[in-house]
Amino acid sequence: MSKVGQSWGRYPQANQTVVALADRHATLPTLPDLMLPHGNGRSYGDSCLNDGGMLLHARPMDRFIAFDAQMGVLECEAGVLFSDILDLVVPQGWFLPVTPGTKFVTVGGAIANDVHGKNHHKAGTFGRYVVEFELLRSDGSRRLCSPEQHPEWFAATIGGLGLTGLITRAKIQLRRVAGPWMSGEVYRFADLPGFFRLSQESDRDYEYTVAWIDCVSQGKALGRGIFTRANHAPSHPDGRPNAPSRRLRVPLTPPVSLINPLSLRAFNALYYHRQRESVSHITMHYEPHFYPLDGIGDWNRIYGPSGFMQYQCVVPPSESLGCMESLVRTIAASGQGSFLAVLKQFGDVPSPGMLSFPRPGTTLALDFPNRGGSTLALLNRLDDIVAAAGGAVYPAKDARMSATYFKQYFPAWESFSHYIDPKFSSSFWRRVTE
Ligand SMILES: Cc1cc2nc3c(=O)[nH]c(=O)nc-3n(C[C@H](O)[C@H](O)[C@H](O)COP(=O)(O)OP(=O)(O)OC[C@H]3O[C@@H](n4cnc5c(N)ncnc54)[C@H](O)[C@@H]3O)c2cc1C
Repeated sequence: MSKVGQSWGRYPQANQTVVALADRHATLPTLPDLMLPHGNGRSYGDSCLNDGGMLLHARPMDRFIAFDAQMGVLECEAGVLFSDILDLVVPQGWFLPVTPGTKFVTVGGAIANDVHGKNHHKAGTFGRYVVEFELLRSDGSRRLCSPEQHPEWFAATIGGLGLTGLITRAKIQLRRVAGPWMSGEVYRFADLPGFFRLSQESDRDYEYTVAWIDCVSQGKALGRGIFTRANHAPSHPDGRPNAPSRRLRVPLTPPVSLINPLSLRAFNALYYHRQRESVSHITMHYEPHFYPLDGIGDWNRIYGPSGFMQYQCVVPPSESLGCMESLVRTIAASGQGSFLAVLKQFGDVPSPGMLSFPRPGTTLALDFPNRGGSTLALLNRLDDIVAAAGGAVYPAKDARMSATYFKQYFPAWESFSHYIDPKFSSSFWRRVTE
């Protein structure tokens, strides 16, 4: 079946054949086309696309295999969603060790991008909790990979962008929790130095820290925002915690993006002032805490038919403040940002993958409605700032970084390329290496 496909950012479009894999025992097609595994399509750009080739649809591989509720070790097929894992393990007192900002990702996709979450400063990336996985290659061979067994294949496949073969199943170490509740504080900060002060004060005692920043305001209000810090709470917290909210849905794609300079300015000002006191205490269910956007189905439609691009970078600690000021100033002056601007300090826990994105420093992520040339020109300017600071841009969110910058951001790309399956490729990989 030939299908025009797109990722979460709905840009770019790709024309590709889709082959569904029934379960972990499936064999790979022997057609001449280049293949790429596909999880749940929650990557934004073209790293989960394979224009002119074939996608191996891994979502149907969705079986749990074993769960040791004493040790918190879960074995499942690679198409299982994080949402399914949470439904199974939270009532038994376990939680994902690391989770991104959506629970609608597969285990295979989370390994292939070595995803990170709000606890990076404490826990590092998801790949650190992968006990082992099976890798199926196009020659039919199956390799069990772990830090002890085939460690070089383990390191190449974690963060390996789906290029080393198909992950059929994986074993993951979970972490203990008392229940589904979170507690912590929310602070308003007036500028970027305020964010760095709060992070420094909070990162030792709080497992989860993250900030939203206003990417429109300039001058004295440049980089103002809201900082949240939280821990898993005991099962019976004080006060009246929120239950997970009902799921809403964007019913159709509007003909033009609903994100424009006017709506952007209004949203950013309202959101910043919504937090009335300089600090307030929160007790909430883990769902709105970790996955605020999952409550609105198909929210990616609000950007209209041209889609949007997410930009996520990280810059080293020595350059953090100056570099973040330049980035936010450039974005605010362009009037092109969005309401989703997230700032977080990564810690120095090493990432296990050869091509893993997280590294020590400050990470900024935000969405840009796709306005064609002007958006691409703006993102190129941001790349110049990030590259000059010795930082990097996240492939899972990228649809446009240049080959030169990719090679600078990921110097291990050449040694990694020896592990690529000769029959695997992606739109992203061809764009940044050919
Ligand atoms: C709202 C939102 C918030 C997000 N927040 C974060 C965040 O906080 N941190 C973060 O790190 N990321 C974040 N992301 C990005 C997301 O976590 C990653 O892109 C994730 O990898 C998507 O998983 P997926 O299952 O949808 O995989 P896909 O997007 O379909 O594929 C991702 C990659 O995995 C490969 N792959 C998929 N399945 C397999 C398999 N079985 N074997 C081998 N390779 C495979 C694909 O080839 C591709 O390279 C966010 C995305 C959204 C939409």
